[in-house]
Amino acid sequence: MNRDIILSVSGLKKYFPVRRGLILQKTVGQVKAVDDVSFQVYRGETLGIIGESGCGKTTLARMIMGLEKQTEGEITFLGKKIDTEMPADLRKKIQMVFQDPYSSLDPRMNIRRIIEEPLRVHTKLSANEKRQILLPLLKNVGIDENALQKYPHEFSGGQRQRIGIARALILQPELLLCDEPVSALDVSIQAQILNLFKDLEETYHLTMIFVSHDMSVIRHISDRIIVMYLGQIMEIAPKKELFDHTLHPYSQALMSAIPVADPERQRARIPLKGEIPSPLNAPPGCPFSGRCAKAKEICHCQKPGLRHTSAQHYVACHLFAEGCEETL
Ligand code: SF4
Repeated sequence: MNRDIILSVSGLKKYFPVRRGLILQKTVGQVKAVDDVSFQVYRGETLGIIGESGCGKTTLARMIMGLEKQTEGEITFLGKKIDTEMPADLRKKIQMVFQDPYSSLDPRMNIRRIIEEPLRVHTKLSANEKRQILLPLLKNVGIDENALQKYPHEFSGGQRQRIGIARALILQPELLLCDEPVSALDVSIQAQILNLFKDLEETYHLTMIFVSHDMSVIRHISDRIIVMYLGQIMEIAPKKELFDHTLHPYSQALMSAIPVADPERQRARIPLKGEIPSPLNAPPGCPFSGRCAKAKEICHCQKPGLRHTSAQHYVACHLFAEGCEETL
């Protein structure tokens, strides 16, 4: 794998203030949606981010896109620091595929206008030049050229997501951020769209961040995986390493929930007790301590740092802290 770093995220935090009172609007707490997250994205890889709803993965994606300003920390893209004030020449190099293909397309525009819109905003290409970019792209995402005059409501969910993907790719971005792009689709269509992403990854040499709550989806698409819980990273590893040597108890529970097609090889499911706690009242120690079957005293008072365990494998758990195994 090429180790050229495209995106670097360092100590990133996003806290939303909670205000009370009709007039004074006093701040009474903070929702820690993303809490001290650091990682890198290498050119040509697909980095999967997995976690339950509310774990902060979408807020993280929105900060990288410059749609949400961070409370603290840095995002560096192609060697330049970025935030909501991102210059246009950098902004066009990160594109996003959204979760809901129904609401992400303007119903008043036909498909040609929707897909060409980024070219109109960021370039001065002639109609003919735009057409020369558009036609091969349409073919690659599986949209019929004759459908260009149609409107979004005339397409199925899967076709609309293909349109969203074409719009995101038309500027040939350096980084494609996909936020739950298949979760609103039927299972059979999900498989088609995931295979399309795989084909496009090869055709366009894409670098992708792929956010999902579904471990089967993340396993299919990713080269490396980040497991998030309550706004923090629990584990990072290359896909094979994560599946062969799952370390964090939360990752183990997520893995155990992946359906197995073979009835003779049923996996023992690790039940997750209770609900994900509110990010307004996160536990003081390990964020997973309230639901972890292996939690000990230290877990409830001391937050575990992200530690390196083997090549490219990092885990935030006291079970893997130096010298802690005996004390646990
Ligand atoms: Fe469980 Fe403790 Fe590890 Fe957290 S630090 S995952 S509570 S064992």
